[in-house]
Amino acid sequence: MLDVGFGRYALREETELTDQRALSRRHLLTLSAVASAGAVLAPGVAQAQKKLPQVPRRMLGKTKQTVPILLVGGGMGFKGMDRRIELALQYGANYIDTARKYAGGTSERDAGSTLRKLGARDKTWITSKTEKWSAKGFAQDVAISLDTMKVKSIDLYFLHQLDEVAPLDDKELLQTVERLKKEGKIKFFGFSCHHGNVPELLHAAAQRSMVDAVMFRYNFRQYGDKELNRAIDAAHKANVGLIAMKTQGAEAGFRDAWTKFEQTGKWNKYQSVLKAVWEDTRITAAVSHMTDLTQLRENIGAAVDRQKLGQLERDALRRYAEVTRPYACHGCDHLCGSAIDAPVSVSRTLRSLTYHDAYGDPSKARRVFAEQPAAARRLEGVDFSRAAAACPHGVDIPALMQRAARVLV
Ligand code: SF4
Repeated sequence: MLDVGFGRYALREETELTDQRALSRRHLLTLSAVASAGAVLAPGVAQAQKKLPQVPRRMLGKTKQTVPILLVGGGMGFKGMDRRIELALQYGANYIDTARKYAGGTSERDAGSTLRKLGARDKTWITSKTEKWSAKGFAQDVAISLDTMKVKSIDLYFLHQLDEVAPLDDKELLQTVERLKKEGKIKFFGFSCHHGNVPELLHAAAQRSMVDAVMFRYNFRQYGDKELNRAIDAAHKANVGLIAMKTQGAEAGFRDAWTKFEQTGKWNKYQSVLKAVWEDTRITAAVSHMTDLTQLRENIGAAVDRQKLGQLERDALRRYAEVTRPYACHGCDHLCGSAIDAPVSVSRTLRSLTYHDAYGDPSKARRVFAEQPAAARRLEGVDFSRAAAACPHGVDIPALMQRAARVLV
């Protein structure tokens, strides 16, 4: 089992990323090859695939289908991403992860139109998600997704941000899923989970045959978590396909976090984090939101190069994790929530703050924060000291919530 790993998008400002990326590129022969090959794209995806190194593939659990270990994330939307998607497909990263609500609803639309332009729908795996967990809502959103992307079938459809087990036992929902599968509208079913009791949800997936795959928050910060590892083992043993998200373990309230990572070898922080996840063979793939060609090339470079992380790199990740520990929330509200005398979700608030501080996207941060009920957004005057004491991860909840009240409300 891995005991190290680390996160990306710690800072999204190009000027501040340039030096580190330039340095890492000088050390990356594979990445250089990828970058130069990408600069002269072959006219067709299929043609290019024959010439270029391909992202390795793994079986996605009981779907019995292989998918690339690097998945193209659509959380930030796909507007203007045609070139990035084309390049990803050329290197075999032919999996697009989107959701009904991503990018204000435009993510599905732009993913569909890009694949149509490239003539690549048939050779690309599409996943989408809905936050409607009822049978009726699920069926409605599948229909909207199909229509929005203008596709006949969606490979995998998730209940999005599931934080309770109950919907997995909803007979009407299960019948609807089966019907949609029979009609060919969706091929596989599962759920994604950011918040709540992720180990409980993974165990639930392991015990329910209808769950083909789960996408869950997983990064270096959790590798030593015995409870989570037992749950991952159970899901893996039950042949549930496991996809890691939030692999970068981004921090809130610490804008220069990435500078604390000391690059000791070939891989920079962003690549090291992905390499660490891929070394866990229980995990099929990692989803990554790659907002420019440089990030895409870096990730592809790391994926196609089979060299594993060295001990020095693992140690650097471990040190980085320690330094940034008070700033990184693991999403386990069930541990600190009961110590707060207000209907506030610490993890949802800090997730919004991460979009603001680490991803450099204040409008998305405020949008995600505003999706919560009004009572959950009232942070002023709330005492978070008991929650801080209850947090096993040492997150500085009072300071971060104070910052959230300042920049998100
Ligand atoms: S603050 Fe701590 S206990 Fe609360 S959700 Fe985050 S990591 Fe979990």
